[in-house]
Amino acid sequence: MRYGALGLGGVAGGAAAVYYALRQTSSWAAATTATDVFKNDAPRGVLWERWRERGWAREGRHYLKLGRNVQCRLCPNQCLLEPEDRGRCRDRVNKEGTLYTLAYGNACAFHTDPIEKKPLYHFLPATPVFSFAASGCGFRCLNCQNWDISQRKPEETKDPRGDPIRLRPELMPTLTLEDVGRLSLFPEDVVAMCQATGIPSVAYTYSEPSVWFEYMIDTARLARAKGIKNVWVTCGYIQEEPLLELCQYLDAANVDLKSFDPDVYGKLNSGKLEPILETLRTLKREGVWFEVTNLVVPTYTDSLAMIHRMCQWLVDELGPDYPLHFSRFHPAHKLTHLPPTPVDVLVEARAIARQVGLRYVYLGNVLGVEDAGTTFCPGCRHPVIQRYVYHVTRLNLEGSACAECGTPIAGVWEGPRAAG
Ligand code: SF4
Repeated sequence: MRYGALGLGGVAGGAAAVYYALRQTSSWAAATTATDVFKNDAPRGVLWERWRERGWAREGRHYLKLGRNVQCRLCPNQCLLEPEDRGRCRDRVNKEGTLYTLAYGNACAFHTDPIEKKPLYHFLPATPVFSFAASGCGFRCLNCQNWDISQRKPEETKDPRGDPIRLRPELMPTLTLEDVGRLSLFPEDVVAMCQATGIPSVAYTYSEPSVWFEYMIDTARLARAKGIKNVWVTCGYIQEEPLLELCQYLDAANVDLKSFDPDVYGKLNSGKLEPILETLRTLKREGVWFEVTNLVVPTYTDSLAMIHRMCQWLVDELGPDYPLHFSRFHPAHKLTHLPPTPVDVLVEARAIARQVGLRYVYLGNVLGVEDAGTTFCPGCRHPVIQRYVYHVTRLNLEGSACAECGTPIAGVWEGPRAAG
């Protein structure tokens, strides 16, 4: 039996802030070399028993039984798993012909963030959002900022030994590192944390929440029933059936549109472009508010011609009102040899987006551009929301309209529903 070596990645201060990210200090590199499913890699013996006792292993949804084999139908990878195999995302295994998620209730990172950090600029501005993740992702982005949880197995981020412990608000001041490794955060615990602290929304974020679908959707369903809103921060790589199920409970999403070139998606992300475009179409059709993020990575996604094509597609297919966030790349993971994105490239990308007709375009991870986070009224051009980094510095809205001229501003501006 092997457990990850656990270390506390960071603890953020602040009244409502709770953040723990568990990081393993060795052997991740070997684990990230797989390009397909992980053969014969499911947890076994005592480790498997303890995982089940903790409630961290649950039967998955959206899969096919094929005799003793299973096919996961959650994301377009559609992993075909023989007994004891583990899916490409690291979260899902075949045990005796049944697909299990290993990620249920075992959050490896949680934090209270400003909603602007997701980024969502047109959704309940200046409110906090309780944000959490389990490990895992179906992509292999060379530039991943959160590779230390996205490219890890659940068993590398959590430790099922010792007494079980569940997160409760009153435990926060006394939690030790050891407690955090053993900690469970089940859907009812997430909702209780929000209710105790008055936080209006939950975000499924940091890694790729689609691959811990069961954990996300059970939490979302419960949160919705209690009047708490649900935010999905995602690469958008999900099959239509689970997405439609999820849309019933979603209030907002931020989708990473990583580039507009299938070859670049293959090289940079080990993914595909078309499923992401389909996700955006579905979100629109289902009436879920969403914003799009495009990270501009030098030499990979900084072609202005490609950015032009992407912006044109967004306007033509989705209309001018969904915000687009161009995000500045900073060297990370396997792309530490590249420089940060030059700011003038971002400014030029923003000009292209505006020129093709997008009404709300922002620059993220960038300092020194005064209006990088400003929402301008499409009617009178006055600023209606001004921001500095993740903080709203001026709000000039009357309800959902510009306070200067009354032009409606697209977004979700009202507060959370009353608790049911
Ligand atoms: S979620 Fe995607 S990567 Fe994970 S097992 Fe299912 S199909 Fe494979």
